[in-house]
Amino acid sequence: MTNVLPIYPRSNLQFTHGKGCYLYDVKGNQYLDFGSGIAVNSLGYSHPYLNSNLRNQSEKIWHVSNAYQIPEQERLASRLCNISFADYAYFCNSGTEAVEASIKIARRYFRKVLDSKSKNEIISFKGSFHGRTLGALAAGGPEKIELFNTEINGFKFVDFCDYKKIEESVNDNTAAILIEPLQGEAGIKEAPLEFLTYLRSFSNEKNILLIFDEVQCGMGRTGKMFAHQWSNVEPDIMTIAKALGNGFPLGACLTSKKVGKVMDFGSHGSTFGGNPLACTVGNSVLDIMLEKDFFDNVNLISKELSEGLEEIKKLFPKVIESIRGRGLMLGIRCYVDSAKFVEKARLNKLLTVKASDNVVRLLPPLILESKECKEALGKIRATCEMY
Ligand code: PLP
Repeated sequence: MTNVLPIYPRSNLQFTHGKGCYLYDVKGNQYLDFGSGIAVNSLGYSHPYLNSNLRNQSEKIWHVSNAYQIPEQERLASRLCNISFADYAYFCNSGTEAVEASIKIARRYFRKVLDSKSKNEIISFKGSFHGRTLGALAAGGPEKIELFNTEINGFKFVDFCDYKKIEESVNDNTAAILIEPLQGEAGIKEAPLEFLTYLRSFSNEKNILLIFDEVQCGMGRTGKMFAHQWSNVEPDIMTIAKALGNGFPLGACLTSKKVGKVMDFGSHGSTFGGNPLACTVGNSVLDIMLEKDFFDNVNLISKELSEGLEEIKKLFPKVIESIRGRGLMLGIRCYVDSAKFVEKARLNKLLTVKASDNVVRLLPPLILESKECKEALGKIRATCEMY
């Protein structure tokens, strides 16, 4: 019997520590981690620079209320805005809270700018996952919210990247379109770049805001800082979290000036969001990701990984159907049961993550090196051989 609410189907594995791309269990076994705490530990475990900055900050001040000046937060906001479309950053503790903020901001925008009480509908995509508060859950689909005897109005769902359905769903009450440029939980499904371009021009034409949820695909995961930066479009609002804190709870909702300026004093806030400890870690993550060669290395290693996976697919056509995704956010769509594949890979000391659509997600740390990439490919091949 555990006193923890039984909401997680946990394996029996218990890790005591980690180093780089590896985790070590209580029995001393070494696991190569291609899950990164679900796209969180992008700079791996026990990173000396992050550890030392966190330790130093912890000796000075952990938390101070948002009622006071927080220079670490100012600096992180300014750096995130410098590397993106944004002019404002709101800090919180999770992806869900970032999404919740994005919904509030989009709805508030039309309330303030058009004095409209009805332009509040958000269109999102089937299969998407935006988090677990009631609002963020509602943005993930009616079947999810209905389980809690809850109805939340103002959300519509269309098939992922279906141009015609989007046009049919938009009306005068549409406030925003919310999309993950690369869907994670749905099974690594990427929106074609031309679809993002279309969404931008369609949103401009209809006076709708465009929200990109980059909680999973952002912060370097696809080989650029933000996944939508592979296209030439920019959103009005973007949510990030996960790798922003490399394991320290930290999320952010970024907005353009036009949109963010409707959020006046008291319209939103957080007790912990953006405290000195969290923002010190966020700034340290950026220090590393903004180093000159960081993304060149991510792109090189992701090429090696996806080419190796394609080779394995050819060798095991009855196990692997296709390889998809971008950068180090890759999916193996299986013919065999993907949950079983994850279990078998674990026996080979490789940690992966299951996703919908019978997909095994590979989300290794972005600091992956060629030696570890080869080791992972060997383990994936060994897993295929178990069938
Ligand atoms: N949005 C996306 C795209 C996600 O993948 C997730 C989590 O997996 C969330 C939002 C929710 O983030 P969190 O679990 O940090 O609340």
